[in-house]
Amino acid sequence: MKLAGINKNTALAAVLGLGVMALAPAALAEKFITIGTGGQTGVYYQVGGAICKLVNRGTKKHDIKCTHTTGGSTKNINGIRAKNLDMGVAQSDWQYHGYNGTAPKQFPDGAFKGLRAVFSVHPEPFTVVARAGSGIKNFDDLKGKRVNIGNPGSGQRGTMEVVMEKMGWKMSDFALASELKSSEQSAALCDNKIDAMVFTVGHPNGSIKEATTSCDAVIVNVDNAVIQKLAADNGYYAMATIPGGMYKGTDKDVTTFGVGATFVSSTATDADTVYQIVKAVFENIKRFRKMHPAFAHLDPKKMIVNNLSAPLHEGALRYYKEKGWM
Ligand code: GLU
Repeated sequence: MKLAGINKNTALAAVLGLGVMALAPAALAEKFITIGTGGQTGVYYQVGGAICKLVNRGTKKHDIKCTHTTGGSTKNINGIRAKNLDMGVAQSDWQYHGYNGTAPKQFPDGAFKGLRAVFSVHPEPFTVVARAGSGIKNFDDLKGKRVNIGNPGSGQRGTMEVVMEKMGWKMSDFALASELKSSEQSAALCDNKIDAMVFTVGHPNGSIKEATTSCDAVIVNVDNAVIQKLAADNGYYAMATIPGGMYKGTDKDVTTFGVGATFVSSTATDADTVYQIVKAVFENIKRFRKMHPAFAHLDPKKMIVNNLSAPLHEGALRYYKEKGWM
């Protein structure tokens, strides 16, 4: 906040008759907010980092300080519900299930009606990477192999379980079903501890770059009748393409299905805070787009409607209305 051109700290110090030096910045009521993201080599971590960077550039004006943690979609939604997190990144399918209470395993407390959508971010194809020489040519070949199905709390783990159920697969159908975090799986693949890894993630990303440059690995198609029906039957899924040439070893386009990454919060986070965060992002959208290649094509008009199933947060809605976008 600026008071007649002078910094708030200086003004307050003057009123109190204190020397400016005596008043450390932390003495003012700064509001700390925590954003739940994903593994360090994924894209959620970059989303959280980018948002915090833009918010923290304006801390002097709004007194909000932002940090971010790792975890994954369902962990983030449950963390927001438990009030350990103020905001978080989550896949569109898990936003839907969190709000509607349609996934009792991930959300044992039932429908989370206080969940609020803020905006959507990048697309996330369901991505399967296989070691060259593993004999895996497409998704159906995963049966009987050593597969990293993801850590509990991550979006890919939940989505993989949905797909497994539709395919009629059980954990025991894999030679090994490991639960490594996304940041650990590329090393496991290249160390020949697993044959394939599953990651619902934006592209390009560090994890898959690591797997495809440290050893010979390819991205395989996830496209059969079961997958096509799954995508057709549920609004939060859609068929997706991972462009060929993005990663070493995968020159042709890959067909799969996917979700959208979304940014969520809850009614427990106050409207002024969410307003300031949304403002920091959209006022700096050009800068935001440059912060990661997966953000390059983000369009505010689409971000405020696509892939959102929970109601918009009051603070976000206020900003979108002010801009005349709604
Ligand atoms: N979609 C993943 C999840 O929900 C995270 C992807 C990422 O880290 O970028 O856990």
